[in-house]
Amino acid sequence: MELRLQPLNLPSDQERAFIIAGPCSAETEEQVITTAKQLAGKGCHIFRAGVWKPRTKPGGFEGHGEPALPWMARVKKETGMLVATEVATPEHVELALKYGIDILWVGARTTANPFAVQALADALKGTDVTVLVKNPVNPDLELWIGALQRINGAGVTKLGAVHRGFSSYEKKLYRNEPMWQIPIELKRRLPELPVVCDPSHISGRRDLIAPLCQQALDLGFDGLIVESHCDPDKAWSDAAQQVTPEVLDFIVSRLIFRDTSEHPDTLKDLRKEIDEIDNDLIDLLAKRMKICRSIGEYKKENGMTIVQTRRYSEILDKRGAQGSLLGIDTLCIKNIFEHIHEESVRQQMEIINR
Ligand code: PEP
Ligand code: MN
Repeated sequence: MELRLQPLNLPSDQERAFIIAGPCSAETEEQVITTAKQLAGKGCHIFRAGVWKPRTKPGGFEGHGEPALPWMARVKKETGMLVATEVATPEHVELALKYGIDILWVGARTTANPFAVQALADALKGTDVTVLVKNPVNPDLELWIGALQRINGAGVTKLGAVHRGFSSYEKKLYRNEPMWQIPIELKRRLPELPVVCDPSHISGRRDLIAPLCQQALDLGFDGLIVESHCDPDKAWSDAAQQVTPEVLDFIVSRLIFRDTSEHPDTLKDLRKEIDEIDNDLIDLLAKRMKICRSIGEYKKENGMTIVQTRRYSEILDKRGAQGSLLGIDTLCIKNIFEHIHEESVRQQMEIINR
């Protein structure tokens, strides 16, 4: 199902990407207004703050709910910024719209639940609000696209996606693994859909925000959503990943906003070369498979097993080392040869079982 979209037209001082910034949670009226004014002073146009907070365990700060919405309305009135908050139930949608929230986002935990997303979609019917759908907590592109389709099916055409990384049992460098191939595939499947990166929830740490922002811009993301708090260390949620408006401004000033439009001539020529090389690669792979099939015939006649572990390890090791000599990551080469080997085995199986 194709999406029916119209441009988000969000204000940005960075011609090539918009930036949404603000605290994880709306904690007090003073914290909201102070942070918003500092951000507006740095040229920020879109303010975020969570009014309803999904928390892993009970007992944490779950947001003030409706009483915090007038603070957001005040931000809008006093700074001129657009305001954004998370919605997880039809009641949240109704209240957010009542207080003039401009952008609603669907949180990662909600996106993972089709019942909840459908209920939100039904509540959004007939509105003209902008909606951003965060990826589900689990690395499931279809579930993410399904949520976008449900919301779009309700007539929401000012729609975007937010990449906030994917949860994993084993905690590594990032709080949520970026798994960039997933948002890249989303962009390939839905080229018109704006995609925003949330480096704060990916990293979980403020020192990793800058490189993640740059990486997202280099990959052609359309915007960034970054958590910023007037006093980050005292934040009631996600303290470790928030930065002051001052620091955010410094990060943004260092970012390189690349031109995502096409450069007709140079790019066209280079892409033509790539196409030719890809054709050669496929030809070579076909030749390799043909030889594999002959080996399959031999193995069949001689009653040999298909997979000969020693030979397989030797291929992976040798090719990996060769690749690294030529500046290609060893693991990448190993992965490629694992796939090639898998297809060779499949073809030999066909021969043996014929
Ligand atoms: C948030 O943006 O504050 C939030 C709760 O994010 P996520 O749904 O990505 O965890
Ligand atoms: Mn947060």
